[in-house]
Amino acid sequence: MKAWQLSDTKGIDSYALNDVEEPEPGAGEVRIKIKNSGLNHLDIWVAMGLPAPKHLPHTGGADAAGVVDAVGEGVAGFEIGDEIIVDPSMSCGVCDYCRKDDIVYCDSFGILGEHHPGTFTEKLLVPTINAVRKPKDLPWEVAGSFGLASVTALRMLEKARLKTGETVLVVGVGGGVSAAAMSLSLALGARVYVTSRSQEKIDWAVQRGATAGFDSSAEFGKEMRSLGGADLVVDNVGPATLRQSMSGAKPGGRIAICGSTSGAKMELTIPYLFFRQLELIGSSMGNHAQFARALNWIRLGKAESPVGKIFDFTDLPDALRYLDSSEQMGKVALTHPE
Ligand SMILES: [Zn+2]
Repeated sequence: MKAWQLSDTKGIDSYALNDVEEPEPGAGEVRIKIKNSGLNHLDIWVAMGLPAPKHLPHTGGADAAGVVDAVGEGVAGFEIGDEIIVDPSMSCGVCDYCRKDDIVYCDSFGILGEHHPGTFTEKLLVPTINAVRKPKDLPWEVAGSFGLASVTALRMLEKARLKTGETVLVVGVGGGVSAAAMSLSLALGARVYVTSRSQEKIDWAVQRGATAGFDSSAEFGKEMRSLGGADLVVDNVGPATLRQSMSGAKPGGRIAICGSTSGAKMELTIPYLFFRQLELIGSSMGNHAQFARALNWIRLGKAESPVGKIFDFTDLPDALRYLDSSEQMGKVALTHPE
């Protein structure tokens, strides 16, 4: 079978379509014949060695959906032919954190495609805890692409205690997690404003339920405050926008952060934080229950995870370049060979 693997980390062109041996499921594992996978910026960062894969060659990809085609020893409740969504969060399963489903704090926490062989392959082994039933009516390309972005967004909104009726400002709505944060905030009953450098993306967000949008590169904090301010600001952009995000929050407001695409460091005016009694809330990935809740919002049609463009499995580098161009609106998915 074929898999897209990195044998070095020089960027997107380091992915090569290799012949690999079909894996046999071990105890407690199922093998999934993948129908669709989804792309994330993570797949580009890993290709650049940020972080470098532990083992080379490394198969990329975090998100996928497909059909069980082999079942390992001791597996109960799964049969060949079952339709499955892959939950990308891996952990040891036995530590105190894992027992409480606080898997994101497990010492061995990792993500498919980053710390473990990923989904850009024809067949993938996963422990049964990572095999989630696909709702029959959910389109395959959505099932195979919503996971990582939606579970990350949902955990962030839950950590930030978002309540019905609150106002959320989503900064840089074109990003995968930010778009998911918008749609899940709407599902949770919030009023949502967005920012983007692209008017097209603001229009896209407004068509999907956002109230209005502001230019990310202008003083959007001031504009948000003139409309009463945000109870919660979601900012995964970092140094380029975080000052505006803090100024757009209401007094006592929260700023949730699960990424920092514009850089890792910035200066903070600390009195601005405490005099305005703001909260900065960090979040990363999500647990299995949050994955199930994110799926449920999408299954119910309360949240959406639109797929903007679908590429053929053999065109992964083109699909990654398209994602890297930031032109995409919605998820980018791959259709795997039959
Ligand atoms: Zn653990």
